[in-house]
Amino acid sequence: MDNILVTGGAGYIGSHACKALKNRGFNPVTFDSLITGWKDSVKFGPFVKGDLLDPRSIEQVFSEWKPKAVMHFAALSEVATSVNTPELYWRNNVLGSLNLLEAMLKANCHHLVFSSTCSIYGENDSVMVNEDSPTNPLNPYAASKRAVEDMISGIVAATELKVIRFRYFNVSGADPEGQIGEFHRPETSLIPLVLENIKAVSGQIEIFGDDYPTADGTCIRDYIHVEDLVHAHILGLNALFAGSKKDEVYNLGNGNGFSVKEVINCCLRVTNKQVPVIIKSRRAGDASAIVSGSEKAKLELGWRCQYPEIDNIVSHSWNWIKHGAYQK
Ligand code: UDP
Repeated sequence: MDNILVTGGAGYIGSHACKALKNRGFNPVTFDSLITGWKDSVKFGPFVKGDLLDPRSIEQVFSEWKPKAVMHFAALSEVATSVNTPELYWRNNVLGSLNLLEAMLKANCHHLVFSSTCSIYGENDSVMVNEDSPTNPLNPYAASKRAVEDMISGIVAATELKVIRFRYFNVSGADPEGQIGEFHRPETSLIPLVLENIKAVSGQIEIFGDDYPTADGTCIRDYIHVEDLVHAHILGLNALFAGSKKDEVYNLGNGNGFSVKEVINCCLRVTNKQVPVIIKSRRAGDASAIVSGSEKAKLELGWRCQYPEIDNIVSHSWNWIKHGAYQK
């Protein structure tokens, strides 16, 4: 059984990737600092506690587990925190990734799947963005991800490293079997935040700005089910192993945009509850509308969304939030 190193494997997307890897006959080795991840989500393979900012601990993992490939999810990812403490984001996301890449090269591990973000596109002339759209990060989180993409591409050009970079749109939903799900502290993502407030006794929902140039004035995003997202990672990994890719970038979204108000209405409909909704001012660093063109992943990797409906995404999240939570 091939070992696949999963940095950030105790996090939301990383843990779903571990389950998908395990189901396809790989052994996912989680490397996670547990600063934002949860030990309880590591259910599908070995766990190594460590930090990418400590090069020795990452080198040790390569010598012990000899992974055939790396899926690199470990990163700080809160837009608002990145605006207030950009230096944290540059150190953690960029330096941590450089340490990982150097350890991979030393260990002759040449296959990398990298977790990037659609927020590197920022505000574009067109709402629908594809892989060739100009990048224009609006916050330090997005800027740090673009910097890592550039760093990786430079190293790929000069070495035997091969990479697939996935630019995620708004990843949501949870394991349909309910074993794992999304759990951030603090939570900042729209769908879990709305559902947690629906679950709370005296919760309320906040809309960050209703004066954007969109039909109902609230921001439009493309929500993709985490199961569909990690499925693309498996296809990407297999393409790397088949030798057909050297350095490719793919958007992963479902191609449909939903406004904040539409998402909130969906959450109220799926849960059959009512919660007060209040309008707040805009959140710094938010683009008004962004939707994915994901044709390239469909065409080249044979990827399809199994759960394109927002109701499906929300109901899997609700099923998780109703029943589940991790403890530190
Ligand atoms: N949002 C909101 N209220 C919340 C959380 C988020 O209005 O409590 C908005 C946010 O301003 C953005 C959209 O919902 O327009 C999606 O935000 P999220 O943080 O989920 O993802 P992002 O698009 O920032 O990656």
